[in-house]
Amino acid sequence: MEELSQIRQKIYLLNQKRWKLLEIIMGSGKLLTASFYERMTRCGNPNCKCASGELHGPFPWIYQNRKGEKLISTSCVADKVEDARQFSENYKIFKENWAQIKSLDEEINGLVTRIQSLNEVDAKEFIKKVGEKRGRKRKQSEEGTKGQKN
Ligand SMILES: [Zn+2]
Repeated sequence: MEELSQIRQKIYLLNQKRWKLLEIIMGSGKLLTASFYERMTRCGNPNCKCASGELHGPFPWIYQNRKGEKLISTSCVADKVEDARQFSENYKIFKENWAQIKSLDEEINGLVTRIQSLNEVDAKEFIKKVGEKRGRKRKQSEEGTKGQKN
């Protein structure tokens, strides 16, 4: 059972990592489930400086999509820029840690599956072998039941 003790050790270490990630997630603070970034823009006026590459900005910008659908893409209100920056960063860290937890879970599940196959006993060991005769008494009572139904 050398492999079992290696698996036990692996699961222990993975679970320690998992717990650290969970602690980060539990203390994540407020989450802005959107991207926050500084955006440079072109106004469209051909005589403006931006037409020759000197863009306007930077403007604090909020971009949010969900399941591929763009929900928000607009400038952030001035008095909330620092919160938006912080909460969006919190969410980025939250997502990264959660993704790592999911991948650790997959790894742990694989090891649990391996424990099952290493420890599994054949259920057939607990039943009568094929061709082994049943007790005479039981057979009679089964036939009796059959008879009553008919
Ligand atoms: Zn311009």
